[in-house]
Amino acid sequence: MPVLVRRLRPWLVAGGDALLATALTVAVCWLVLRSLAGGAAGPVGAYLAGDLTGLAAAVAASTGAPLDWSIGATGGRLYPISMLLSGSQLALLVAGPLAAAVLLAWRARRRPRSPGAATLAAGGYATLIAGLSAAGAATATDPLVHLASPAWLAGLAALAWAGTAQLVAAALPRRGTPALATPARAGVLALVLVAAGVVVGQPAAAQPGRPPAERVVPFEGDPTPAPNGYRRAGVAAALARVTAEQGQAPLAAFEPWRGTPSMLSLSSRLGGDVPGWLRRNSGLFGVADASAQLRPLREQRERTGERHVWFEQHVGGVPVYGTRVGVHLDATGRTVEFLTNSLEPDLIVDRVSAAVSAETATANARRALPDGSLVEPAKLYLLPAGADPGRRTPTVLAWHVWLTDVRQGVSTSYFVDAATGRLVYALPRTAHAKDRRIYDLNKLSDDKVPVSPKRAEGDRPSGIQDVDEAYDNLGHTYDYYHQTFGRDSFDDEGGQLRALVRVRQNPDRPMRNAMFIPDVIDTMVFGEEMTKLDVVAHELTHGVTFETADLWYMYQSGALNESFSDIFAEAVEKFATGSNDWLVGTGIPGGALRSMANPPSYGDPGHYRDFERSCLDMGGVHTNSGIQNKAFYLLSQKIGIEKAARIAYRTLITYLAPRARFTDSRVGFIESANKLYGKGSTEAKEAAAAWTAVGVDGVYEQDRQDCLCIADTSLTGVGPEGLEPQGPGVDAVLGALLHVRDLFADGRTPALRHYEVIYADGGDRAIALMTADDDLRRRTAHAMQTLQPVLQTVGTPDGDGTVVTAAMLTELETLLRDYAAADRAAGGGELASVIETELGKANFPALSGLTANQALSYLDTHVG
Ligand SMILES: [Zn+2]
Repeated sequence: MPVLVRRLRPWLVAGGDALLATALTVAVCWLVLRSLAGGAAGPVGAYLAGDLTGLAAAVAASTGAPLDWSIGATGGRLYPISMLLSGSQLALLVAGPLAAAVLLAWRARRRPRSPGAATLAAGGYATLIAGLSAAGAATATDPLVHLASPAWLAGLAALAWAGTAQLVAAALPRRGTPALATPARAGVLALVLVAAGVVVGQPAAAQPGRPPAERVVPFEGDPTPAPNGYRRAGVAAALARVTAEQGQAPLAAFEPWRGTPSMLSLSSRLGGDVPGWLRRNSGLFGVADASAQLRPLREQRERTGERHVWFEQHVGGVPVYGTRVGVHLDATGRTVEFLTNSLEPDLIVDRVSAAVSAETATANARRALPDGSLVEPAKLYLLPAGADPGRRTPTVLAWHVWLTDVRQGVSTSYFVDAATGRLVYALPRTAHAKDRRIYDLNKLSDDKVPVSPKRAEGDRPSGIQDVDEAYDNLGHTYDYYHQTFGRDSFDDEGGQLRALVRVRQNPDRPMRNAMFIPDVIDTMVFGEEMTKLDVVAHELTHGVTFETADLWYMYQSGALNESFSDIFAEAVEKFATGSNDWLVGTGIPGGALRSMANPPSYGDPGHYRDFERSCLDMGGVHTNSGIQNKAFYLLSQKIGIEKAARIAYRTLITYLAPRARFTDSRVGFIESANKLYGKGSTEAKEAAAAWTAVGVDGVYEQDRQDCLCIADTSLTGVGPEGLEPQGPGVDAVLGALLHVRDLFADGRTPALRHYEVIYADGGDRAIALMTADDDLRRRTAHAMQTLQPVLQTVGTPDGDGTVVTAAMLTELETLLRDYAAADRAAGGGELASVIETELGKANFPALSGLTANQALSYLDTHVG
């Protein structure tokens, strides 16, 4: 045996050297990648650092062998020399094989009498690198990023590195030992020359081990509208993979402008941890590495063991507002069953640090709501614009300043540009029982809201009907949520609510509305006789929504927010009284507000084809709610309201993200029914059928989540022909109009509220007149351009520095009189008389020379 060991020893030593050298290459490459990860080297670098297959590809690339790569629609071939020339830090990868070569050379020098073993070690090292490269190519599964180096080329290149080092080592003079034996040196030299020659001379022959999974030509040209089937690069391949994994196409909803799935039912093996799964399935998000952009947000754990792990997107350390990714795991924790995705792929981030302080931003936001109190400290967010196919999405770094003024019944998230200090966006947070403009018809006053005495838990009846009714109905609502879902109050933490009853915003008139106002202490506000059971349940459900899916209170997500409140209002009514009438607001003065069984009987759509595109009421949140309301009613008719409410509850609590649309809720309903009552159960089939019956069948709904008003409309068609070439462009004018629309949506001042109501009554007529008269359209566009500086700055600090000129007022007045004339000429007259009345009130000459903000104040006191 000793003889055998002695004979094998050089071979074992050579094998050990080869392993050691390979390990060194991997370790050094790993260290290099770790230090480069995080975007310094771009998506390739981030991907290489991502997982083992990426590391294997990086090791292969580090040898100098050409590396074929593709990311989405682009690709090419990568050489260390080109990395070096282009300044890519990835060139540092060559430190891996260099270290290995030095190690092998050092080992060879220590054993000059066994040159065969040195050659063997070099060959072993090259073989291991080739194997690693082959394994990396074979197991690469990322559909979006594809990297492959031919294994044999990588092996030869590794051999060249090791051999060259050994030749250098052998050539160095040494003391008392003979140089490397001539035949062995010749052998190594020949190998090195062959390897180097092949590597250098052969790059064109290199082929990727596997063709790129998918190549999508970027969408070019006019970005609107989104093609129905638009998918970002990598999405289709990632979907194909999950389809193959579970044997059937997943139930999915798509965000058509982003081109990624927003809701996805799955049966996908977790295989490790959630970030690893996110990384492997990055194609679903249309990015190279989803896990690199996601930070943990919260985790919900169910008694069954199911987990719902939520993330928020961060870029450059700054969270992206409103983004949520939810990974929903089954009870075993080994299978991903569902994915909620509102990650914004491909954001343009110009800055991640603020030039304006949080204090300045807060002060600027307070100009909009002077007595507002901060709900939470101002925080920096990236605010993304709407996604457009084939284009990168711009972002604004903005301070999120959330102010609440309970007396005014306003809670709003203001976004203040962190570079300029300007108010760029306002997201309403107050949720109302009915369209605010209805009670805004009353003259509002800023007098103190009279608040009746509160009745605390356990107190005896106060004898005041509204107080006792609110007390009892809040109790019923609490009991419903607690007994049905085990939910402890709206926040599931026993949260206390402040309820104000018999509230008047005008001392002379009762307020026929109720609202939920998020604040440090969340508050429900009820007008007189508004404390009926379904109104109370409606408002408390706004609190539940606010604490869970946090559906944005505008456009489709706002309509869903309203609808969930209506749904649970009826469920509570059934729970507390044994029956429900499908009418929202039964028993309040003036009668019910909406019908869930027959939304059109109250003027609301009960089918998606009647979807109301409107600038008013936050984009029609109290009308378009009829669509989900009708779906819920239909489902209840089939399986009973109790089961239907369980399905709706799970949808709201578990699956929806803040900007969800009808199509997302549909998928949430079906998934919830599958989970609660079994896959393919009657309940699940009826859930799908109910949504199909209201026109939401999983096919893309063409809705830009935006409104089109008269001013916007003037800038379409022939309208832009009316613009002066040297004046502000269409984008600038539209930007100013969007700003004004946000002011209106906020209903911030009496004049704005006054004009909002006028517009609600006359807007459609004005659009019809303009659409019929190209010249009127061109002149409307021209007037908007003339007014642009004032429209852009009114209500902001800059509005103190913009002056309303006589020319602006003359043009506006002439235009309005033309509308009045066109109205009469077309056989109308209503719009004409409104315009004449308003022109009389506004007294345009008095506005001339005022700043934009002074003019608004003037209008507040004269027309509001
Ligand atoms: Zn509401």
